[in-house]
Amino acid sequence: MGQRHGTILKKCQCANKERCRHKWTLRYWADGRQRELSFADELDAAGRPKYGSGRRLAQDAQLKIAHDKRARVFIDPTLGNTRFRDECEKWISRHAGADLTKEAYQSILRAHVGPVLGDRTLAAVAQARDDVIDLLTVRLGAGSNSRRKIARALITGVLYEAVVAGKITMHRCGGIVLPDNGGNGDHGDFVFPTHAQLDTLAYGTKEPETKGIRHPLTIWLMRGCGLRIEEALAVQKSCFRDGGTVLRVFEQASRDGRTTKPLKHRKAGEYRDIPVPAYLWAMVKNLPDGYLFMNDGLLPRYSCLPPRVQRPCAQGRYPGRVHAAQLAACVRVGPALPWSADHRRGQVAGPSEHQRHLRHLRPSRPVISQACTRSA
Ligand SMILES: [Zn+2]
Repeated sequence: MGQRHGTILKKCQCANKERCRHKWTLRYWADGRQRELSFADELDAAGRPKYGSGRRLAQDAQLKIAHDKRARVFIDPTLGNTRFRDECEKWISRHAGADLTKEAYQSILRAHVGPVLGDRTLAAVAQARDDVIDLLTVRLGAGSNSRRKIARALITGVLYEAVVAGKITMHRCGGIVLPDNGGNGDHGDFVFPTHAQLDTLAYGTKEPETKGIRHPLTIWLMRGCGLRIEEALAVQKSCFRDGGTVLRVFEQASRDGRTTKPLKHRKAGEYRDIPVPAYLWAMVKNLPDGYLFMNDGLLPRYSCLPPRVQRPCAQGRYPGRVHAAQLAACVRVGPALPWSADHRRGQVAGPSEHQRHLRHLRPSRPVISQACTRSA
């Protein structure tokens, strides 16, 4: 073995290096720099060191390095020694997504991926398929499907990038299937709430006496303009333009109501314009200027809406997911919706497929006004 492929030595000053407890060092060159790997002697069943076994491990590593360099597949083993948490941070900071997307990755890293995998090396995580599956299916098992997907995308994204960058040769964490738990991806059980049901939700009922919610107008913003909950909470009167016929949405309330953030999937300053049904403008027209729901400089907290609005309705008091009240925007104009070409040709399978299409469809303004005239 030539000098080029490294030397094996002990760095200690012991008289009997064959029998001392210090590690064997393999010193080799990679990318024009000298590197070192160290190997301890293995222990036998009784816990006594097997003298010389560390040197054999060093020789094996030396052989592999020599072979890989000749075969031109050499990857410096020390490159895989970086901390997984640091690699995640780097990956997130380079991610091309919107700020909110990065925030979502950061919070998953802080709360779940970091505590379990953060202090291991990149190379160790690449081999830790079992632990990654446990993290995704047990630790995150009860949570929402989207959190599991974010965690999986983070872990496999970092590992994939490390393979491409030549820091590790491969990883074993690909193709992990997540349990769905009937989560966000599945809208099969969604039933559009009727007007009467939303009315009950917003204002309560007299007989029997039930309370409505604190900001009933949010329901009609969601229903009429397809807003998400946090978007509805941050609407200002000046967002209504063109004589109250268009709503420009450009921000959403933070969960704690202290600030506003850019829209989901969009960068700060980006907006979308939504046609406004006449009944909604009639409700807003005479309100004072400013944020519709601001109180003492605070927007309502996300939690001000009862869980039956926030979450899928498990008990069936309201049909399906009122959370997706935004979906209901499409109800009143359902027949006139500009369906995708596939749908018109009758090639869209089943109701859940149908609803996935619905989710992000926004009716055009002529369609809305037609539908409003019809139902008025
Ligand atoms: Zn020694």
